[in-house]
Amino acid sequence: MHRFIVVGGGAGGLELATRLGDRYGKALRGRQPRATVTLVDRNPTHIWKPLLHEVAAGSMDPFTQELEYAAQARWHGFEFQQGELVELDRAARRITIGAVPDEDGAAMLPERSLEYDTLVLAIGSTTHFFGVPGAAENSIALDTVEQAERFRKRLIAACVRAEHQTDPVTTRDHEGKEEPRVQVAIVGAGATGVELSAELRNTAQVLSAYGLHKLDPGHDVGIALIESGPRILPALPERVSTATAELLLKLGVRILTGERVTEVAPGVVRTASGKAIRADLTVWAAGIKAPAVLSQLDGLPVNKLGQLVVRRTLQTEIDANVFALGDCAACVWPGTERNVPPRAQAAHQQASFLFKSMGNLLDGRPLPEFTYRDFGSLVSLGHFSAVGNLMGGLIGGSMLIEGLFARFMYMSLYRLHIAALHGYARMVLDTVAHWLRRTTLPRVKLH
Ligand SMILES: Cc1cc2nc3c(=O)[nH]c(=O)nc-3n(C[C@H](O)[C@H](O)[C@H](O)COP(=O)(O)OP(=O)(O)OC[C@H]3O[C@@H](n4cnc5c(N)ncnc54)[C@H](O)[C@@H]3O)c2cc1C
Repeated sequence: MHRFIVVGGGAGGLELATRLGDRYGKALRGRQPRATVTLVDRNPTHIWKPLLHEVAAGSMDPFTQELEYAAQARWHGFEFQQGELVELDRAARRITIGAVPDEDGAAMLPERSLEYDTLVLAIGSTTHFFGVPGAAENSIALDTVEQAERFRKRLIAACVRAEHQTDPVTTRDHEGKEEPRVQVAIVGAGATGVELSAELRNTAQVLSAYGLHKLDPGHDVGIALIESGPRILPALPERVSTATAELLLKLGVRILTGERVTEVAPGVVRTASGKAIRADLTVWAAGIKAPAVLSQLDGLPVNKLGQLVVRRTLQTEIDANVFALGDCAACVWPGTERNVPPRAQAAHQQASFLFKSMGNLLDGRPLPEFTYRDFGSLVSLGHFSAVGNLMGGLIGGSMLIEGLFARFMYMSLYRLHIAALHGYARMVLDTVAHWLRRTTLPRVKLH
């Protein structure tokens, strides 16, 4: 049997392993399984990464949204191996995954080697600090549930401290304005930074309602969004950026554009123009790069962001048995001068593409070429709104949408991911369960 290994069970990898397992890993209508499918991930559970800003703001409890890889494997005809990819031997078609310790640091799983016929690398991306002094040490990135939870706990602690300050010291900013008692600085006004800033405004309001009555959510919790480019959401059309900026200003978010951050020190973010922005908490959301391990994979070529350079078949440049998808792959986007963008939408399309492509591979037919279809981008602005542009043949161009409808479209992206993992019937049940659960949970996770 053909041996498929998918490394990375994220937005793209888990969808691919699930579909390959369902189609080729199980006996189907009397037909024997055609392949073994193994998914490798460093974590035991999956969470859809675009939910992390909601986890950081406390509006999403990650434990209600996590999916156990081992259970998904059992239901969908694949095997799961926990461990971090550390080495690739292309000649032997073998990967090595690292040992996994238990919570006390004692060895739980040993280092293991797994052999493949076809390997798909889907290990996503990590935060890029661009070498800015102090950024890695003094700010929090949003790559993992642990980081998002750390931010949430620190934010709540800062608000509780401010509530109980008996003699609060009033500080003033460079313009002489009174500063909020808790100040959050978000570096990078791409989708993640913008979404987090809107979500945090909601968190401040809810915390004030949940017992922190002395905290004025509009005034005492400040959110500064810092962007080096001339406008927020630089990767999206200008009118989306303008509409979003207006909404953020209404929410009381302070927007600083054209400000390149040169240092993050404890309690302060400094910019090239000489500004020192007070920051009790700093989030770094200014860019991504591929995980370092990809540059050490038996000579596979990477670009300057460390992403694996792939052909339009998603095969790596020098090894036809190794494919890459999602954030960790650099794939040309024909008709533009850019690569396919690092988005959940792209990872989802590439997973669907590779699922079909793997059928061709098993049948000995030529592999198709991937074309990214941009359906637009949506940015969530808290519970009741979103803004973005819809694109595509249906509407013949790009259309600005905002409000509840945009929020509904935004949420449907996640629902599509759930449908890809569990089917449409279970997706509907999951949605209902989610709404029911919300009736007995606080609107912000407090502990
Ligand atoms: C806060 C936030 C908000 C976002 N919002 C949006 C949005 O609204 N819309 C959108 O389209 N995109 C959004 N994105 C981007 C989107 O999350 C990514 O583009 C998408 O998750 C990429 O999918 P992927 O499968 O390539 O990688 P990921 O989903 O990141 O999955 C990578 C997987 O690989 C595993 N892994 C990593 N390294 C190793 C290793 N060495 N060995 C084994 N396993 C490993 C990880 O544990 C993870 O499970 C957002 C991202 C963030 C952080």
